[in-house]
Amino acid sequence: MLRQYLLRTFFLTLAWLLLWRVAAVMEYGPHASIWFPPAGLTFAAFLVMSWRAFPAILLGGVITTLWVSDLYGDLTPVKELLVTGVSFGVAHTVPYFLGAWLLRSKLLRLGSHGLSNTIMTFLGIAALSSFCAAWLGTEVMISGNLLQAEALWYTWLPWWIGDLSGVIVLTPIFIALVSWRYPQIERWLGGLKFTEGGGSWSSFSTKLLIIVIMLAVCLVISMFSSYEEAAFLVFFLILPLLWISYTESPLKTAIALAVFSTITAFSIGLLGLMDYAIVYQFAVTVIASTAWFGLTVPALVAHNQYLTHQVSQDGLTSAASREHFMQQADLLLKMARRRNKPISVIMFDLDKFKSINDTYGHIVGDSALVEITNAVNAQLRESDVLGRFGGDEFMILLPDTDQSHAVGVAHKLREGISKIVIPSLAERLSCSFGVAQVSKNEHIMVAVDRADRALLQAKRNGRDRIEKDAV
Ligand code: GH3
Ligand code: MG
Repeated sequence: MLRQYLLRTFFLTLAWLLLWRVAAVMEYGPHASIWFPPAGLTFAAFLVMSWRAFPAILLGGVITTLWVSDLYGDLTPVKELLVTGVSFGVAHTVPYFLGAWLLRSKLLRLGSHGLSNTIMTFLGIAALSSFCAAWLGTEVMISGNLLQAEALWYTWLPWWIGDLSGVIVLTPIFIALVSWRYPQIERWLGGLKFTEGGGSWSSFSTKLLIIVIMLAVCLVISMFSSYEEAAFLVFFLILPLLWISYTESPLKTAIALAVFSTITAFSIGLLGLMDYAIVYQFAVTVIASTAWFGLTVPALVAHNQYLTHQVSQDGLTSAASREHFMQQADLLLKMARRRNKPISVIMFDLDKFKSINDTYGHIVGDSALVEITNAVNAQLRESDVLGRFGGDEFMILLPDTDQSHAVGVAHKLREGISKIVIPSLAERLSCSFGVAQVSKNEHIMVAVDRADRALLQAKRNGRDRIEKDAV
């Protein structure tokens, strides 16, 4: 146990230092990096490991402070540097620890239906934590004489945005990688499933290639153009990145954002675009936040489809709900009238269903309803619509069918139902039927009402029979 923890701490420190070195390469001003990946790792580590991540990140903070002092040729004594290092470590870790703790406890409460809340909370807390970390970090640097007091303002803002883009872009991908090994993490991600949804890896690669080409074009234009505002072209990358978040899994969105931001961050130094670094920093942050929000769109579409399905179908029998039946009836009636074709309705109701429920229980009653729906569906055409009005009452709409043919259909249904065998049910199932043809210009409900009256007549006449409306 202890050995495993020490090993994790060692690798976390190592990864943190490695990312810090990568960030240092991309510095465009003292302590101001385009994009600060260690912040992303710190936040992810606290989210996954909670307070157990403290030693690794604190150690990282101390080592980097000594390293920074060496890099800038500072002559501060080691003892003082150690104090600054620990203070820097605390300034960096505490805001992220508190942010991660707040986010995790909020996510646990959200459950699995709060994807947009998850993303909003993550972005809000990321902004707040990185703001505090940047502010406190700058103050520590000033009090440790590693930074001039007047540098506070022009250091703190790029520091904040650099930290923020590191968190927004990279924390999700670190969590995704860890959740690969520990899938239980997805339980507290508020509906975010990293590998769910999206197309194939080859379609994703094409989209990624488009991003790389578009980014290269934007950067090269900015490099050669004498028009400074050309740097803002990078904001166009929002289009392909949203395309990815709308159509691919969250993991692929995370990969695309990591690729986009890494190329941007490295290219700025290589192509001499440091003067516009803050534009690129903001672009990465804004585009990444928008792309994360984009993930809610497919989730909402899927949820909408599920709800539409739920309201259009009866949960037990999968027959059309009343609302869906009426919508379909409206459509089919209009078509029948335009084509001058007959259309009929059949209403039917189980005989003595109450006593089946009372004698055999509701579970047997439910299976009788399901079996009847199956038997009826087996006799109907694809263009017919079967609906359940509730209870044991059903209706059928039969396009291109006049009353006498509809009576024929009802006889076939009666026969089909009589053959149903339910193992725990001793008696035979039967239904009573009422048939009516929809008259010209008649409202569907009037025809349904006539079929209902015919059904009542069938009940009165002894059940298990078919009656047609007298009209
Ligand atoms: P009748 O021949 O006159 O139709 O007699 P009946 O006993 O079938 O009377 P009625 O149609 O009025 O009763 C419907 C019964 O259907 C009442 C209720 O117990 C039962 N029921 C309604 N919905 C469900 C359901 O979803 N599942 C089950 N198992 N029973 C249901
Ligand atoms: Mg009944």
